[in-house]
Amino acid sequence: SSSLYIVPTPIGNLQDITQRAIDVLSSVVWIAAEDTRHSAKLFQHLGIQAKTLSLHDHNEDKRSQMLCQKILEGESVALISDAGTPLISDPGYKLVSRCREQGIDVIALPGPCAAITALSASGLATDKFIFEGFLPVKTVARQHALEALISRPHTTVFYEAPRRILDTINDVKAVLGNERQIVLAKELTKTFERYISGSAENVIEWLTEDPVHQKGEFVLMIDGVQVDQNDIPEEAMALLKRLKSDLP
Ligand code: SAM
Repeated sequence: SSSLYIVPTPIGNLQDITQRAIDVLSSVVWIAAEDTRHSAKLFQHLGIQAKTLSLHDHNEDKRSQMLCQKILEGESVALISDAGTPLISDPGYKLVSRCREQGIDVIALPGPCAAITALSASGLATDKFIFEGFLPVKTVARQHALEALISRPHTTVFYEAPRRILDTINDVKAVLGNERQIVLAKELTKTFERYISGSAENVIEWLTEDPVHQKGEFVLMIDGVQVDQNDIPEEAMALLKRLKSDLP
């Protein structure tokens, strides 16, 4: 019977497409893509000729209904996003949950994902980690979201846009202090791939020393606090105390 395939695509280096991804994209009738014009380049590179449909935040409900119908009628569908793994800070959740509800097989292929790629080379603990996707855009909300990390023992992974990266690192410093180790992974799998690690101040210094440093794609990772209470920085403990006293 027909299925929905979740197909990761490269996050920079086109060689990161898997053989199985090529096989699936070559054999399905439909490819649902976030931005069909963007994906046309990849299809051209791979010689793929499936019919394409757009699936993004604004049409996902309607399109999911239509795509499920096609699968039930015997036409297989592959879902891709502009880069990396679909559904990871990308569209697809409504489509997958609808397919599951209707008893349609959903088959995910493993492949590129910026968060996992960055984490595996970060040098931060990987045994337990939390992926938070994008932080809120507004400073107050962003600082509030970062407060969740004050006593969290796990590594936290964020995606961040270039136009906000500096503001975000400034907020990290304001909320978590300058003791906390952070790692910024930039332009993964691309020519100017780079990891910048150290304190928030170290990273701010690097970002501001050359305007080009703030351009590109970023994964931000923040170390967890050590389990030993004595290792929690004084300012973090003070903030914790303040937060606790604010609780009803
Ligand atoms: N679904 C994608 C994945 O599996 O990685 C993520 C999509 S999300 C809309 C895009 C964000 O992922 C970017 O803003 C950036 O934070 C991160 N990202 C994507 N490609 C990257 C790369 N080559 N280097 C660093 N970060 C990247």
